[in-house]
Amino acid sequence: MHESSMKGKRHAVRGSLFHCLCDPGPGGDSRASEYFEDGLLLIENGRIVEYGPALPALARLPENTPVTDYSGKLLLPGFIDAHIHYPQTDIIASYGAQLLEWLNKYTFPTEARFGDPEHAEEVAEFFLEELLRNGTTTAMVMPTIHPVSVDAIFSAAQKRNMRLISGKVLMDRNAPDNLCDTPREAYEQSRLLIEKWHKRDRLLYAITPRFAPTSTEAQLREAGKLAAEYPDTYVHSHVAENHEEIAWVEALFPWSRSYLDVYHKFGLLRERSLFAHGIHLDKTDRKLLEKSGATLAFCPTSNTFLGSGLFDLEDTRQHNVRVGLATDVGGGTSFNMLQTLSDAYKIQQLAGRNLAPTQGIYLATLGSAQALYLEDKLGNFLPGKEADFIVLDDQATPLISRRTSTTTSIEEKLFVFMKLGDDRAVYATHIMGEEAHLR
Ligand SMILES: [Zn+2]
Repeated sequence: MHESSMKGKRHAVRGSLFHCLCDPGPGGDSRASEYFEDGLLLIENGRIVEYGPALPALARLPENTPVTDYSGKLLLPGFIDAHIHYPQTDIIASYGAQLLEWLNKYTFPTEARFGDPEHAEEVAEFFLEELLRNGTTTAMVMPTIHPVSVDAIFSAAQKRNMRLISGKVLMDRNAPDNLCDTPREAYEQSRLLIEKWHKRDRLLYAITPRFAPTSTEAQLREAGKLAAEYPDTYVHSHVAENHEEIAWVEALFPWSRSYLDVYHKFGLLRERSLFAHGIHLDKTDRKLLEKSGATLAFCPTSNTFLGSGLFDLEDTRQHNVRVGLATDVGGGTSFNMLQTLSDAYKIQQLAGRNLAPTQGIYLATLGSAQALYLEDKLGNFLPGKEADFIVLDDQATPLISRRTSTTTSIEEKLFVFMKLGDDRAVYATHIMGEEAHLR
């Protein structure tokens, strides 16, 4: 049966099922996750109705219920990339720079092209196909200052029925003239885009000052005003990524206690505020995040590639700060969240800590959903949630096939996917129950 003819009806998907109910922690608490070797998802109108062992569920299904059979493959909730730049698709793998040089040498020249709607649309289409090919079903996406760049990514996501968060970048200093707006334009253009896109289908809007150094105090004040006027939108920015950047923020905002404090002073720390990186934070900053409900995106491949530093996942967890996992392409080196987890594991090892495979999958799914305040809609297979899920193939490559032939538990198999998996391991991606990518 063709997928589109299933719309509005019940259909089932069979395969191994793994999902997390909460954070398994670095020790991988087995009570935090569930695994059904032969499992079934029952889906109706794009939402999960039921999940569990296949045989009893199949016995109860009405005879004509279509069943998509992925037996032998592993179903996971769709990956959620908590921070990524779609205009940087074309500068991934650019050589030899740390953050500030990276921005001037690669990022700004590329982003300047996104005032052209045709270019923005072409990149947005490629970008979303690449996300789906990699098993990423939802993302928090930074576009450019151009309203047409926002229209392009939202239109492309709407066409695919994806849940996606984005919003016009605000920059009014320390960037080339053709990438600067004004505080007034930042406010007005954001307001129009919020009215146009926020909560339209599955789309959500983020007020997006790029980072403190490229906004004047007047512009940050306008961003704070928007954040107060539209309390159910998101705030999306960067914080405390690189030492040179932090020194620059100190010079630009001499009154501030810390980099994070700048955002706090302008009313930008609240629930649904997400900051990428947060590598170099102190205890006061972490408490401020905890108290405000603002969250962080852990970007392992970017942090190592740009030499920014090692994110302290455990201390952040201890402060009850929600943490999402993110690729941060193009500073990040892969669109793939399994590859991202591979680097996340290495970063924990360098800190003398563990990242249990189940905790890794948690970060890429339910953890990112929590960081984006979407855990009521996404992140696992609980009934009522939106049926965004992926299918991983343990026969994807000769090496993965050979290595998984000797694993004896789901944890071991997940770890093989985390270390050896990439886009080839993603056999299929489903959005609201429907097939959006098949390898
Ligand atoms: Zn970024």
